[in-house]
Amino acid sequence: MILALICLAAIAAMILISCGNSVQEKRMITVSILPQKFMLKKIVGDRFEISCMLNEGNNPEAYEPSMTHLMNIEHSVAYFCIGYIGFEDAIVGKAHVNNPDLKIFNTSKGVEVIRGTHFSPEGEHNEADPHLWTSVANAIKISQNMLAAVVELDPDNADEYTRNFNAFKSELDSLDSRIKSQLAGKQGSAFLVWHPSLSYFARDYGLRQVSLEYEGKEIPIDKLKQNIDAARESGAHVLFVQREFDSRQAETIGEELGVKMVKINPMSYNWETELENIANAIANN
Ligand SMILES: [Zn+2]
Repeated sequence: MILALICLAAIAAMILISCGNSVQEKRMITVSILPQKFMLKKIVGDRFEISCMLNEGNNPEAYEPSMTHLMNIEHSVAYFCIGYIGFEDAIVGKAHVNNPDLKIFNTSKGVEVIRGTHFSPEGEHNEADPHLWTSVANAIKISQNMLAAVVELDPDNADEYTRNFNAFKSELDSLDSRIKSQLAGKQGSAFLVWHPSLSYFARDYGLRQVSLEYEGKEIPIDKLKQNIDAARESGAHVLFVQREFDSRQAETIGEELGVKMVKINPMSYNWETELENIANAIANN
């Protein structure tokens, strides 16, 4: 009897030790933005640790990573880029020096990029629009790319990842149909936004995005009337503003136009809710 108890205790101890090890051994993937973290979590569940470079409210176009973030990349097995964000190239270069085994995956591979909404630091107007994630169609492509990458990183659990992806894909398909039917009557209509972060959303649903800022900055006084007139002529009833591109001018113009101001946060982990809020605001105004 005592012997049996000792055996049981030994087995229990072994289970505890092996569980402890498996927690320690969980591998880390670094992503750039929270919507990516949300999508990746849907696919990998708890099988990987996910570290994210940008926190809520960080501006992806003017971002300097912290030491903690750089250390996380050095401890990661892979970095999942979102693509077309300037800081990613710099980070990948630095991280490779200390972590030469780091695998890099471009998760926006295959997404048809929109050009002509963003200015380069040199003032050129042909930059790729980096806000790829404000689109359900793009999210499906991004998630597909993520699935392929995690299967490569952990082939033993490929079936599980594929099942998770398929479930998430149905979720995304129904989100897309919901938004489509909500906006069916709004084809061709315009909405205002301070910074052009909803270009892909507009393309998906046949809407027109009118951005108020001027060449990525505040509007100079001599252009103000022109921008306000353009906004008025667009017939839009809603103006989206975003914390990371905050501007006092947006509020003043919104008041002058008498449009509804709606705060959005497409950089949030609650990515689905954000897209639904955007669709609701357009459908109801
Ligand atoms: Zn932008």
